[in-house]
Formats: sequence, structure tokens, C-alpha cells
Amino acid sequence: MVYIGIDVGGTGIQVGIVDQNGVILQKGGIVTRTDVPFATQVKAMADCALDTLAKSGYTLDDVASVGAGIPGVVDPRTGRIAFCPNLGWKDVPFAQEMRRHIDKPVYMDNDATVAGLAESVAGVSAGTHSSVFLTLGTGVGGGIVLGGKVWSGFHGVGSEIGHMIIEMDGEHCNCGNNGCLERYCSATAIILAARKAVAENPDTLIMTKAEGDPMKINAKVVFDAAKEGDALAVKLFGDYVKALSTTIVNIIHFLDPEVIALGGGVSKAGDFLLDAVRAEVARLVMYKTLPFARIEIARLGPDAGIIGAAMLGL
Ligand SMILES: [Zn+2]
Repeated sequence: MVYIGIDVGGTGIQVGIVDQNGVILQKGGIVTRTDVPFATQVKAMADCALDTLAKSGYTLDDVASVGAGIPGVVDPRTGRIAFCPNLGWKDVPFAQEMRRHIDKPVYMDNDATVAGLAESVAGVSAGTHSSVFLTLGTGVGGGIVLGGKVWSGFHGVGSEIGHMIIEMDGEHCNCGNNGCLERYCSATAIILAARKAVAENPDTLIMTKAEGDPMKINAKVVFDAAKEGDALAVKLFGDYVKALSTTIVNIIHFLDPEVIALGGGVSKAGDFLLDAVRAEVARLVMYKTLPFARIEIARLGPDAGIIGAAMLGL
């Protein structure tokens, strides 16, 4: 059997035909259109999936299920999407609409959750007892896999780790609260902190690497300057490592997973980030003589969305 995986993104929708080991057999994709009705959007996804299936050489008889990773709040039990701002969806019957075009079981979950599932099937946490995936990008998403199954909570919103409050009365977050870890651990947080810092102290390698334009600062610019020992960049990197390590230690103390995998744009820093975070986590964990979660960089990159969505049907 094969599994259809759909990675629904704000700019593009990626579709894959995936085998039971999480290997993508055929890929396709369309541009996300937000100017058409919901039913038209779903039909375009289904058409793309069927087209990709035909190219793979398999037929609908070979398909076990359709899975979708959604950048929003979903209720996997009812098949409805409560909220998906990037596509302009609010309380839409996604599974029901998809089944009108592809009459197979339809599964869905949050995009970070499915990426975590992908890593646990075919990536860095494959074969583990339990894992937590953190996507460090524009925001921060979380995916929890326990005993091979995703844990999204009873109401479907259980792994919203980006909005765990790590500083009471801290930085204001888009969600309406203050002090959410997303405001300290995302790529956006690094950029905002760096822009603020260079306004007060423009004599830094960060500005050289950003060609003198604060709007060109990104996480890579800051981390690269830190690698070269620029004092301001080292300070910003240190603050970031502290926030991320605090988050990871909270996860370890609360859930004690076997692996914590770091994905998203910031994780491209690789060992430079990993070495610093591992050292800080070791310093902060409570039970210093006991083993604790392995911290790793996620392996599947952008394909994780397709693979994980498909693997919801396993
Ligand atoms: Zn928040």
C-alpha cells in the first residue's frame, strides 16, 4: 500500500506518494491560492494528489489513506479545521470535502506535529520510544510522538509549545499573551533582538554581514558573526541558546522523551547551535547523574511535512 501526504503551506502545497517506511515515491505540488473558495482549494489539492499518484504508477486501489499537515488548529476526531489563517479557513470540514474527491480515510494534524511524526518514522528519531520535535522558524511549533503515535491532546491543540510562557509579563506575542517562548526561540525573535541591538551598537560584524541594512539581518547573519567572535553577536547567540535550552529543559523535566529533534530554519546552524545547547541543557537539568533526552538536528528538512502527513495513516 501507499499513502498520500499533503503538506499544506501558506505559499505552496506539496503532495507526495509515500510508502510505509516514509520513503517518498513521487512528488508534486501546486501554488496556494487564497482567492478561491474552500471547496475549490481542496479540489485543487485532490487533483494534484491524483495526478501525482498517476505519475507514481500506482492506482487508487493501492492507496491506504490521505493525510494532511495543516498550519493551524485542527480537530483530528471530527476532520474539521478550526482555524488556518494562511489559507483563510475557519471551521471548515476538510476531511469531508477531501473524501468527495478521493474516497479514502482522511487524516490530518498540525504541521509541526506531522513533521515530528515524519522524523520518528524515517528521520532522526526513528525507532525511538518517544520524541519531541521543535520547529524553529518564523514561529515555534512542536510535535510530540509517544509510542509511535502523535499526541495532539484531547482537544487537538496539545503541542502548541511555541506559546508556552517562559517569561511572565515578557515580550508580547501575536497570540495575545506575553512571554511566549516563540518570542525568544524563533528566527523572528533573533532578528528582532538583533535589529534592536544594532540600533544601539552599529559597530558590529552583524551590520557588515547585513550590508549595513538592519532589514537584511537574519538568524544566519547573527550566528555567522557569533562564530567569528563578534561581541554583540556572541551575546545575542548566548541569549538565544539560553532561551532554547530553558525550553528543552522544561520539556525534559515534564515529559522525559528519548529524543528532542530541532528543525526549521534556525536548526540549519547545525553543530554550532547543537554543541552550545547540549552544554547548556546539561548544566540546567535537575537529575545530573541520570541520562536524559538526546538532542539532535532533524534530518528530513522540508520533506518532513509530506512524509509525516502520509504517515498519519499508518
Ligand atoms: Zn503566544
